Amino acid sequence: MDLTSKAKHYIDLEDRYGAHNYHPLEVVLARGKGAFVWDVDGKKYFDFLSAYSAVNQGHCHPKIVAALKEQADKICLTSRAFYNDCLGEYEEFMHNYFGYDKVLPMNTGAEAVETALKLCRRWGYKVKGIPDNEAIIVVCEGNFHGRTISIVSMSSDPSSYSEYGPFTPGFVKIPYNDIPALEAAFEKYGDKIAGFIAEPIQGEAGVFVPDDGYIKKASDICHKNHALFIADEVQTGIARTGRMLCCEHEGVRPDILVLGKALSGGVLPVSAVLADNEIMLTIQPGEHGSTFGGFPLACRVAIAALTVIKEEKMAEKADELGKYFRAELNKINSPLLKLVRGKGLLNAIVIEPHNGNEAWDVCEEMAKRGLIAKPTHRHIIRLAPPLCITKDELGEAADIIRESLKVLE
Ligand code: PMP
Repeated sequence: MDLTSKAKHYIDLEDRYGAHNYHPLEVVLARGKGAFVWDVDGKKYFDFLSAYSAVNQGHCHPKIVAALKEQADKICLTSRAFYNDCLGEYEEFMHNYFGYDKVLPMNTGAEAVETALKLCRRWGYKVKGIPDNEAIIVVCEGNFHGRTISIVSMSSDPSSYSEYGPFTPGFVKIPYNDIPALEAAFEKYGDKIAGFIAEPIQGEAGVFVPDDGYIKKASDICHKNHALFIADEVQTGIARTGRMLCCEHEGVRPDILVLGKALSGGVLPVSAVLADNEIMLTIQPGEHGSTFGGFPLACRVAIAALTVIKEEKMAEKADELGKYFRAELNKINSPLLKLVRGKGLLNAIVIEPHNGNEAWDVCEEMAKRGLIAKPTHRHIIRLAPPLCITKDELGEAADIIRESLKVLE
């Protein structure tokens, strides 16, 4: 990429003082509004990553920012050592919004997944009667649930787990989108299986959409075997796929629901685990928590962020716009474009390498033309704009993608 001295300055600082634990595209962002971001030199881009689907409501949504500012002037953090005048109202709001008895507030997606795993094991011991220390949780190959040791213990991606062992035991990995494999796992370990965790669409795997009916069948199999179905909707939730929750496409209500990212509209790290009393009350006071989990600022921001989703009918928009966008992408005739897939506004294009050009090269060309996105793999680019994008803007974005593929033919 051609870099200005200003952009180079910030990149050099990160290179010099930051741990090299990411591989960013060389764009230095300074500002965002709605579906757009601007770099330090004032160049405008379509944001087609949305901070990994955290900014569903659009950058700096005025109502979410206003909630943040209003609460920041009152009190930001109290800890859970005391009650505060935000958390209870947030919990009631979440109960009314998602229909679960209880919410357990955390901060990041990974923390919420960890919490869901603990909760599932605890339920397994206390309710299902699994002998202590023997609980199994079934997980899917290709998953991405975060970066902690227990979570990478569930991973099948060597770049996530290599040389981070020893790992947390108690996970059985099966192929994703494979009902017979799930049935076989229950046949082999049934009495010891506390639950099954899955993403309703595997985001980091390159927006891998399972067969219609997979999530419903998987959830039914869990219930038949007295085990919990845990849905990690950190990336797919909050209207991203055209429903408030991706599981709604199949009429599935997960036993444990994990939310994060867009729960705050990308304004603060806010995550949550939702479940009914029979499950949630297996954790007793003092047995789990986090200093920031459920902090007043997070509560007010999350209420505002979820209200915006409903007020602006973002799930309905994502559903409709997704269909239009995939149709536009499917019109592109390029030897580099192998496949278009996705649901709602969580989409990906699969790139056929051509003249040495791969997904990264396509992303660089798109950035030059004013659209930023990031490959999930050498041959896959996820396309996930904020849900406030308009149909015309999506059309323009499709043109940028078409031109970027064209110059690489
Ligand atoms: N679960 C899923 C499905 C995710 O996509 C992610 C993040 N990409 C996480 C969990 C982890 O979230 P966080 O980065 O906030 O820990």
